[in-house]
Amino acid sequence: MSTTTTNTIPAANHLSEAPDPQDPADTVKVWGYCTDFCIESGPANGMSVEEHGKVCESRSLSVSQVTSDDGRGFGISSRVVRPYYHGEVHRSLVYGDARDSRVELELSADDAPWGSEPERLRLSPSAARSLARHLLHLADTAEGVQSFLGTKERRA
Ligand SMILES: [Zn+2]
Repeated sequence: MSTTTTNTIPAANHLSEAPDPQDPADTVKVWGYCTDFCIESGPANGMSVEEHGKVCESRSLSVSQVTSDDGRGFGISSRVVRPYYHGEVHRSLVYGDARDSRVELELSADDAPWGSEPERLRLSPSAARSLARHLLHLADTAEGVQSFLGTKERRA
């Protein structure tokens, strides 16, 4: 008498293939992991999206004294955000870097109608670092601390 063993474990390579945006059944079940920077209080792993919210987000850091050419005032706030999913979602929402953390800039006009949505930009961490370095350099140039990219000799 012989015994035959059959491997019944399904291939996991479907997770590495690009998602099919036309196929609503191309879904995957994910567990909701809350980030360490999230302002959500308490351990929030496994909370439903309704309980937790659609993103993990850090506290905001804000600057004011921002004006446009026509004198309008603006505020810019920044924070770290990461999409939060728990349960069955389309694979396009969690494929590749779709679920990576981003730095979000929010631009709000002081005279914007109440309840209007601010403009939001999401930057990769490397883009945010580049922008921060550029802004620091430009601020130093604006105050005469250094010349612009070394294009001219510093005046005595
Ligand atoms: Zn969270």
